[in-house]
Amino acid sequence: MSSAARLAAIQLIARKFPVVADNRPDTQVPDLFGVNVFGIDQMRSRLSESAYRALRSCMEHGQELDPALADQVATAMKEWAVERGATHFTHWFQPMTGSTAEKHDSFAHLEGGKLLLDFSGKALIKGEPDASSFPSGGLRATFEARGYTAWDPTSPAFLRETANGSTLCIPTAFCSWTGEALDEKTPLLRSSEALNREAVRLLRLLGDQRVQFVYPTLGCEQEYFLIDRDFWVLRPDLVATGRTLFGAKPPKGQELEDHYFGSIAPRVLAYMQEVEIELWRLGVPVKTRHNEVAPSQYELAPIFERTTVAVDHNMLTMEVLKQVAQKHGFQCLLHEKPYAGINGSGKHNNWSMATDTGENLLEPGRSPAENMRFVVVLAAIVRAVDSYADLLRVTIAHAGNDHRLGANEAPPAILSIYLGEQLTEVVDALIAGTGRNSTKKKDTMRLGVGVLPPLPRDATDRNRTSPFAFTGNKFEFRAVGSSQACAKPNAVLNTIVADSLAYVAGEVERLLPHKGLEAAVNEVVVDLFKKHQRILFNGNGYSAEWHAEAARRGLPNFRNAVDAIGHFAAPKNVALFERFGVLSAVEAESRMNIMYEAYSKAIAIEGQSALSIARTILLPAAQRSQFAVAQSLGAAKSVGLDVAVQERRLRDMTARIEAFVLAIDELTAVFEHAEQHAGPPHEHAVIYRDRVVPAMQKLREIADGLETMVDDAGWPLPKYREMLFLQ
Ligand code: ADP
Ligand code: MG
Repeated sequence: MSSAARLAAIQLIARKFPVVADNRPDTQVPDLFGVNVFGIDQMRSRLSESAYRALRSCMEHGQELDPALADQVATAMKEWAVERGATHFTHWFQPMTGSTAEKHDSFAHLEGGKLLLDFSGKALIKGEPDASSFPSGGLRATFEARGYTAWDPTSPAFLRETANGSTLCIPTAFCSWTGEALDEKTPLLRSSEALNREAVRLLRLLGDQRVQFVYPTLGCEQEYFLIDRDFWVLRPDLVATGRTLFGAKPPKGQELEDHYFGSIAPRVLAYMQEVEIELWRLGVPVKTRHNEVAPSQYELAPIFERTTVAVDHNMLTMEVLKQVAQKHGFQCLLHEKPYAGINGSGKHNNWSMATDTGENLLEPGRSPAENMRFVVVLAAIVRAVDSYADLLRVTIAHAGNDHRLGANEAPPAILSIYLGEQLTEVVDALIAGTGRNSTKKKDTMRLGVGVLPPLPRDATDRNRTSPFAFTGNKFEFRAVGSSQACAKPNAVLNTIVADSLAYVAGEVERLLPHKGLEAAVNEVVVDLFKKHQRILFNGNGYSAEWHAEAARRGLPNFRNAVDAIGHFAAPKNVALFERFGVLSAVEAESRMNIMYEAYSKAIAIEGQSALSIARTILLPAAQRSQFAVAQSLGAAKSVGLDVAVQERRLRDMTARIEAFVLAIDELTAVFEHAEQHAGPPHEHAVIYRDRVVPAMQKLREIADGLETMVDDAGWPLPKYREMLFLQ
């Protein structure tokens, strides 16, 4: 890295213009949408009527495909894909690495010396990738490195197109040979089934005979940063870790808040448009784009879908964001905190439940029956979040997210629920057993009568500081990190709500014979709100008062990932997973280990990266500058000039360089100690958190001080003021 390269990058960037998309549609968006998806239309036109119906049923209910049918589906899929230029197919899955995995095979098949394209039902429904190099958290011993992928028919197959050909991608689950889940998708599918089962059971009890199927829905708002690639390649920290490990505070940050919803810069807009076209072709219903609060920060939001599909679509969105960026001369940063001192990025996880009859179970509704259903579901969710706040917290425990949670721009690490004023009034009145405006009205608050006020859904009623907020007809879990796969948070959400729905159903069943439905439901709901009231909080989640208040209420507060992760395998949480068949005890424990390992590895890479940048890039730059100053002072002195004041500055710089060398030595020592540690994953992670992270921080502070002293023309790393504002 040389300062000449940095200065050249600035010159280059000044002359860049928007790139014209090479996928610009010649058709209207409705015709474009889903052209690369083997969707309902394709299935209907290419399959026999009976095969089509059987496949639809598998898709809707997440059932396994009958092998007899598989050949027919595979052939239809291959024909469609080959017509569109596909030569290869891959099972596309989500191992516990936080990203997706693919291994391509061509359709080639030799027959009498001729090459034919062929795809069997067997190849569609099952693949056998070697699993030995994916994280298994200790499970590996039990399955000898063999794994298999199995088609998840709830999520449609799609084509990834490049200028040189296409690949058919088949979304799959990934398991070990002995049946343990090795991916994020399997528990998500299992949790969706559990939620369906318990929700339908409760709806039946409430008198609904129509609904046959309930599924979770998800819309995830994705935040990201863009940086010019010519800067990015000069920042080894961004390349290796996704965040800047050094960089002095720029004169202007986000204090003016002029970026938020600002007019989108032409180069960025051109990029966003190409991303959207690509995603529409893949059937991802992207809807919203805007500038976010921090400079160079943006957001993309889709229309919500069934969770199993939305999770895949979010993985695809992250891939497409990164791939298209390169064409436009950008690098897309999905890390939670690429830059210190300004906002980080999250992924707001909008979650609800929908029925096959087209209703949203979190829609307050107009009829008394709908009202009752809404309040029951709400009470169940309040119980779920309060009882399993620790578990929800683990799903967002992640080295990158540690920089965000609890910092002044993101939700706190303490989980609480925001209901808004009106709904809180309803809950308070239910608890008090009085009418809504208890002082004015004498009537008793009762469910099953038209008691709910109309709930406004406008943005003014929203509390941005709450980690888990009711936003009109859904809950928004805001603490998920921007780089995180959202399968895990959603699997846990589904499971804890399934548990609560089961609890409510059990209680209603118990009380029903003595009290009748309405009174039974009323009693259960009131009891739940009373017991779990402590999780409700409408105030400012960032404030110090809330931290004190939350402690008084006994709400868990795990300040960092390492403190949280262990709770994934706490006995009560393992019992929950086992009760609903989402994870076995062994699976839960292995996932906990994987999370510890992921944390340790992330910090190890940061430590290594910080050390090499400090030793080989920053220290030499500072020393060159020091030498130049010393030389200049020597020359001045030799002609009899008084340089006492300037010497003070040189001494200051020298002292800082010395401190920097000592900080490098210290980080080297703690890093080596951490690397050599051979204890259990938890202890290993604690050492990284308690020793390596602070040593890195100290090193950074000194480096950032030096950056403000060293000759600008000699500073090799692109600076914050450049990375954040030049594009
Ligand atoms: P805001 O930023 O104000 O919260 P956005 O429109 O950016 O609102 O994002 C809201 C997200 O919530 C969108 O992805 C939207 O599709 C999603 N959403 C709306 N209704 C539901 C629902 N019933 N279930 C899940 N997600 C939903
Ligand atoms: Mg938003």
